[in-house]
Amino acid sequence: MALMITDDCINCDVCEPECPNDAIFMGLEIYEINPAKCTECVGHFDAPQCRQVCPVDCIPLNPAFIETSAELLLKYQQLSATVAAVTEINAEKVKP
Ligand code: SF4
Ligand code: SF4
Repeated sequence: MALMITDDCINCDVCEPECPNDAIFMGLEIYEINPAKCTECVGHFDAPQCRQVCPVDCIPLNPAFIETSAELLLKYQQLSATVAAVTEINAEKVKP
């Protein structure tokens, strides 16, 4: 499953920079998680990094996005391939 941020969020800003997938962003009132980018940190770490740093424990699993470990790993691999492709395109742009 992807994770989600509840209304208990106090906008402390500490989780956003910890996310290896850039899945966390500031929403209209509180921080939010893009479920398409959240892998529960599978592929990067043994445990969700956002949860490790949240001082108010407001990042539960998102029941709307149920995924197996294999599906989370596949999502990680697809995200990594996209990042690699964008990096390559940007490198081509700056070539003389
Ligand atoms: S669990 Fe990991 S990938 Fe998902 S939002 Fe938190 S830090 Fe990002
Ligand atoms: S760490 Fe927790 S309280 Fe702080 S911004 Fe993230 S979700 Fe909100």
